[in-house]
Amino acid sequence: MQHLASFVGGCWLEGRGAGTQLHNPATEEPLALASSEGLDLAAALDYARNTGGPALRSLCFAERGTILKGMAGALQGARDELLELGMRNCGNTRSDAKFDVDGAIATLLAYAELGAQLGAGRFLVDGEGIQLGRSPRFHGQHVCVPRHGVAVHINAFNFPAWGLAEKAAAALLAGMPVLSKPATATAMLAQRAMQVMVEKKVLPDGALSLLVGAPRDLPALLCAQDVLAFTGSGDTGERLRALPNVIRHSVRVNVEADSLNAAVLGPDAGASGDLYELFLKEVVRDVTQKAGQKCTAIRRLLVPAEHAATARDDLAGLLGNLKVGNPSDEDVRMGPLTNAAQLADVREGVEHLGAEGRLVAGGSKPPLPKGYFLSPTLFEFAPGAKADAVHAREVFGPVVSLLPYTENPAPIVAKGGGGLVCSLYSEDAAWLEETVAGIAPFHGRIYIGHPKVELSPGPGTVLPQLVHGGPGRAGGGEELGGKRALAFYLQRVALQGSRPLVQGLAKAGTPG
Ligand code: NAP
Repeated sequence: MQHLASFVGGCWLEGRGAGTQLHNPATEEPLALASSEGLDLAAALDYARNTGGPALRSLCFAERGTILKGMAGALQGARDELLELGMRNCGNTRSDAKFDVDGAIATLLAYAELGAQLGAGRFLVDGEGIQLGRSPRFHGQHVCVPRHGVAVHINAFNFPAWGLAEKAAAALLAGMPVLSKPATATAMLAQRAMQVMVEKKVLPDGALSLLVGAPRDLPALLCAQDVLAFTGSGDTGERLRALPNVIRHSVRVNVEADSLNAAVLGPDAGASGDLYELFLKEVVRDVTQKAGQKCTAIRRLLVPAEHAATARDDLAGLLGNLKVGNPSDEDVRMGPLTNAAQLADVREGVEHLGAEGRLVAGGSKPPLPKGYFLSPTLFEFAPGAKADAVHAREVFGPVVSLLPYTENPAPIVAKGGGGLVCSLYSEDAAWLEETVAGIAPFHGRIYIGHPKVELSPGPGTVLPQLVHGGPGRAGGGEELGGKRALAFYLQRVALQGSRPLVQGLAKAGTPG
């Protein structure tokens, strides 16, 4: 069986022992083994800091952008192979696998383009210069320079290609080397993506490392100039933030955690027509894409009470008709959950929701001989029901709960405690204004669905131009958002002194 090697210290190294077995979640067939046992993690971090860091900092933004373009090209060249791995290792349908792999390529290209726009500078000049005293000679200017540490990226299992690429794009463009740790369950795809980038020699030595297998004490080895960007469960995020070295050295930590994303059907949308149809289409796609294993997937549906029964019946019909099975079968529209542990966790979540709500569709395994499957599942709740579990527990699978509302839905949405995205389906400007004002502080992104926005990818797609993250239970982090993403990897420093000297120093950031 294939042993997945890590790329650390500039070479491919296998961990000791058997490690963890990876499976095809549709067939339960063992695929590979991943272990990080015996790898010298401190040396891996030092290699990135001391080799990759100086190499990246010597390049300007445009040159770093060219690296990202090369990474995108390497992935594009192996696209079919990567899609096939997504189907085999992650239980993705081909369309789900494209979402991950093409998303990785598109995000790298978006940041490559940003690099070209930022041009010949090596750091960012932040805002205008400021006269600090009565004399114009006393001058101040903020600049943002790359940190001299390593960016450790710990990713979740659901986007092995995109997770690796989107975090790396921002860090590399900012001028920081990266050590990326994919989630073990789906590390085959991330590891192959790394292999093709190494084979194509698109990266400077030490700029990007990959650790496959258990994280061991990796986060505990981080120092003051390092940063840690984590995507995964809120529990792990909490543990990482509380590490003594993280607290002692003020290691910068960005957490992208779970989220109880809501979709709200506006009172004006009715229960027929283009807007209502868009709502149904986007809810079904969101609940079933990647078998609901998306941090941005819709978990809560808020529907005006007078339309709740129609929406319930329409959704139950659409979800019930969707073919679930092995993604190698072309008719299949939804694959399995990633592994046995995820299926067990989702089943437990379904039981919790079932204790308060009424099961309308799904809730059980479809009649398939093997694999970690769950049918698309819909719960409904009575108007005004407390529905504590719905607002407290993220069921990370194809499961959604319908909550009828009679008054302002914003306080119900806010019960989720902070989310990545909330989608609104309405054309009523006054209602939108009131609802956005009510929910905006609780979210990283608000999606306003409109049937005339052609080719909209829906609320579940994270775009490189817009921030991704959210307050509260969503982790409080922020990724992407174009140039904003670079801030996490840069130190903002105020220069103050004689105006010509300060202006001269700042000019090095943006020559020409
Ligand atoms: P998880 O158990 O927290 O694992 C996430 C990552 O953390 C994996 O790479 C895992 O490695 C690693 N990890 C686990 N324990 C660790 C520790 N003590 N120290 C360092 N690393 C550790 O989360 P998950 O269950 O795989 O992911 C699902 C969750 O991720 C969901 O709640 C989902 O909402 C969230 N998510 C959020 C976003 C977002 O952008 N906000 C995106 C995707 C997913 P191993 O795999 O080797 O254990």
